[in-house]
Amino acid sequence: MPYEYDSQNIFARILRGEIPCARVHETEHSLAFKDINPQAPTHVLVIPKGAYVNYDHFSAEASDAEIVDFTRAVGKVAAMLGHAQIAGGEGYRILSNAGPDAHQEVPHLHVHIFGGKFLGRMIK
Ligand code: ADP
Repeated sequence: MPYEYDSQNIFARILRGEIPCARVHETEHSLAFKDINPQAPTHVLVIPKGAYVNYDHFSAEASDAEIVDFTRAVGKVAAMLGHAQIAGGEGYRILSNAGPDAHQEVPHLHVHIFGGKFLGRMIK
């Protein structure tokens, strides 16, 4: 098996309702909540409800329905929070760390959404 999913990771525990989160949006296959240590005025995490370690795992093994739901959930959250340009906002950044070189800390796929200020050029 290429990926070992740790069902005790903190986002799995949030999904099971064992620990609380500040929920922003929820769909059939996805959940969005505020990052506990925000790096921008908006810092929201979007996660799939399925047990996927990171983006390579998800993109290879998730169903089309899960991928569509998750992709749309990310865009919906950006629009709901007023950052999506299609909704008149000033933009946002999405980022997902995968694996040790990217310093992925929580081994459940999550996309960070940053916004609410000028974020500048991405340098790393
Ligand atoms: P890094 O910490 O290097 O950014 P990740 O990309 O794995 O690594 O990000 C994990 C994110 O999860 C961090 O931004 C952290 O603040 C956030 N986080 C950790 N625990 C919680 C929690 N209980 N609720 C919300 N966000 C959390």
